[in-house]
Amino acid sequence: MSTRQVPTACPLDCPDACTLTASVEDGRLTRLDGDSRNGLTAGIVCGKVRRFDRHLYGAERIASPAIRTGAKGAGEFRDVSWDEALQHVSARMLEVRDRSGGEAILPFSYGGSNGALTEGTLDTRWFRRLGASHLERTICAAATSRAQDGLYGMMPGVDVRDYVHASLIVLWGFNPSASGIHLVPVLKAARAAGAQIVVVDPRRISQAKSADQHLAVRPGTDVVLALAVARWLFEHGHADEAFLADHATGVDAFRARAQRWTLERAAEVCELSVAEIETFARRFAEASPAVIRCGWGLERNRNGGSAVASVLALPAIAGKFGPRGGGFTMSQSRTFRWNLGPVVAEPEPEVRSINMNRLGPALLEQTPPIEALFVYNANPLATVPDQAAVRRGLAREDLFTVVFDQVHTDTAKWADVLLPATTFLEHHDLTRGYGATVLNRIRPVVSAVGLARPNYAVFAELLERTGLARETDVTDPDAIAVAIASSVALGPEDGAALVEHSTLDRPPSAALFRDRFAETDDGKIHLCPAALDAECQATAGVPLYSYQPDPGSEDYPLALLSPATAKLTNSTFGQLRSAPAKVQIHPRDAETRDIRSGDAVVVFNTLGTVECDAEVTEDLTPGVLCLDKGLWERHTRNGNTSNALCPTTLTDLGRGATFNDARVQVERIVTPKPR
Ligand code: SF4
Repeated sequence: MSTRQVPTACPLDCPDACTLTASVEDGRLTRLDGDSRNGLTAGIVCGKVRRFDRHLYGAERIASPAIRTGAKGAGEFRDVSWDEALQHVSARMLEVRDRSGGEAILPFSYGGSNGALTEGTLDTRWFRRLGASHLERTICAAATSRAQDGLYGMMPGVDVRDYVHASLIVLWGFNPSASGIHLVPVLKAARAAGAQIVVVDPRRISQAKSADQHLAVRPGTDVVLALAVARWLFEHGHADEAFLADHATGVDAFRARAQRWTLERAAEVCELSVAEIETFARRFAEASPAVIRCGWGLERNRNGGSAVASVLALPAIAGKFGPRGGGFTMSQSRTFRWNLGPVVAEPEPEVRSINMNRLGPALLEQTPPIEALFVYNANPLATVPDQAAVRRGLAREDLFTVVFDQVHTDTAKWADVLLPATTFLEHHDLTRGYGATVLNRIRPVVSAVGLARPNYAVFAELLERTGLARETDVTDPDAIAVAIASSVALGPEDGAALVEHSTLDRPPSAALFRDRFAETDDGKIHLCPAALDAECQATAGVPLYSYQPDPGSEDYPLALLSPATAKLTNSTFGQLRSAPAKVQIHPRDAETRDIRSGDAVVVFNTLGTVECDAEVTEDLTPGVLCLDKGLWERHTRNGNTSNALCPTTLTDLGRGATFNDARVQVERIVTPKPR
C-alpha cells in the first residue's frame, strides 16, 4: 500500500503553530512529523502531537452522535443517527428560544480547535441568529491582550527568531518547556552567543536552573517587581528620556505610580531580597539588545492586567527598542489580522454577556436562567474556576446540554446529546500562530473516524434545520478560508505562497521603533492609557498599576499555581494521561505539616477539596503549591482538580480568570482510601 506525505499544521492552543507532514495510508494516519515550512518550528514537534494517533484512533474517541439514556452525569448514551441527533438539538433550541428567549441559550467554547473555520464563524452565525447569550471568552490572554493593545496598539513584538541578537533575555511568567518549546533551541543559541538569561517565575522551571538569575517572585506580585525596577531605572539615570519624549505619552503618570515602590517595599511584598531586584534592574539597564518574553503566568491573578502592562512598559522606559532583538514579545497573532465579520454575516445582537470563568454561578444563579448549554471546543468541567459549582450546574435536571467534542471528556458525561467532532487532520481550517508569525491553511488529510463531522458542517446544518440559514450565506469551507485569508492584508506574493505551501511564514525583518512603531491612534506608546485606568476602576475599584494585596489568610496561606505542562494542552489529551496527579510542595511547607513525597494529601479551601499525592520539591518557592493545569477527574483521588479550588473573581483588565489567586491549606491524609 502506498504512503502519501501530506502537509498540515497544528492548530492546538500553543504559540508555535508547527507545520507538519502527515504520512497517510489508505486514509489512515501512520506518522506525523514536523516540517520546516514554519521557520521557527523547523521540523521539531512536541511529543503530544507526534503521537496524535493515540488521540485520533483512541478508545475514548466519540464516533457517533448519541442521546443520553442514564441519569445526568452517568455517561450512558445510545448511538443515534446524525439526523435524529440534529433534529433533537434543533427542536430543543427552538423550544427554549420560543418559550424563554434566545438568551436562555448559552454557547460555551474556547481554544480546543483554535482555527477560524472551527470557531468564530458558522457557530457564531447560528448563535447570533438564535439571539443566544454572548460568552465572554476570557479564560486566557484577556488581561495580556488588553495591556498589550492599551500600550502599543496592534504592534506585534520581537520575533522570537531575533532573540539570537539579544544580550539579555528575560522569561517573565513563560515556561518554554511546557508552552512554546521552540524557544528552547533559540535560548541555547543565544546563550552560546553570550546572552544572559533571567527567569521571573515562582517555580524553578528548567530554564531557571541554568539562568544567570532567577527571581522566584510571590504569585500576584509581578506588578510590584516591574514598578520597582521602573522606579530604579528613573532614579538611577537609566530611563531613556529622549526615547520617551519622542515615542511615549503618560510618562509622568507612570513614573508617579512607580514611585511608591522602593526596592525595600517591593522586596517585602515580592518575597525577594533588595539585592536580587537591584541586580536585575541593573542587568536590564546595562544590556542591549534586551528582550522580555512575557508569558501568561503573570496575568492569572487579581493584578494580572497591571502586571503585564508594567512589564511591557519596561523596554520603553529603559530605551530597549531600536536594535534587532530588543523590546518585548507577547502575542504575535496580530501579525495576520483577519476580519471574520463578512463570513459570520450576522451583526452582534444586543444580548446579555456571561463570563466563561463564572460558568458555575451562571448555571446556578443567572436570571432569567440558562436553559440550554451548547459546549464545543472546550471541557469546562476540567478548566473553569469553581469546579463544584460547574458540576452542580451541569447536574441541573432542567438544563439541556449538548457537548460537541472529539473525545469523551469529563464534561461530555453530562451531555443530553453528544456530537462527534473531527480533529484538525479530518477537516479544513485556517490558523495563525500567536508565538510564531505564520498563517496555516489546513485541509483534511485522513478519513474521518466513525461519523465525526467538522464544526462548520454541523453548524451549517443547524442553521438550516432551525430555519436561520439565508441564501447568501457562505458555508463551503474552501470559500470561507479564501474569504478570511483575503481579509488579511496579504500581498499577491503572500497569497500565492499560502496557496502553494499551505503556510505563510513572515520571517523577522523589522526592528521595533526603527522600522515599525506603536499602532495606537497617535503612533505613540501609551504608558498610562485612560481606557485601561477606567477599566481597572470599573472591575477592581483601583487605578491601573495598583497592587491589590494577597488574598491569603491564616486558614489558607498557601498560593496554589496550576501551570501548563508538556503533556497536555489545557485539558486536551487528558484521556491519554495515566499518571496520577501530584501536588508539589516545598520542603519547608512539607516539614511543618509532616508531609513526605508519596503521601496522600488533601488540598482544600472554602470552595472544595482535592485529594492526591504529594511531591516534595525544592523547585518551588516556600508558600506555593503546584498542581498541573488541565487534569481530568480520573487523575485525583476524589475526582476534583485544581480548578475546584480556584475563585471566580476576575482580573483587573480583561475580566480574565484568576486561577493563581487560589489560596489553600494542605494536610496529610492519615488513612487514605485505596485508589
Ligand atoms: S502543540 Fe505546539 S509544539 Fe506541539 S505540535 Fe502543536 S504547535 Fe507544535
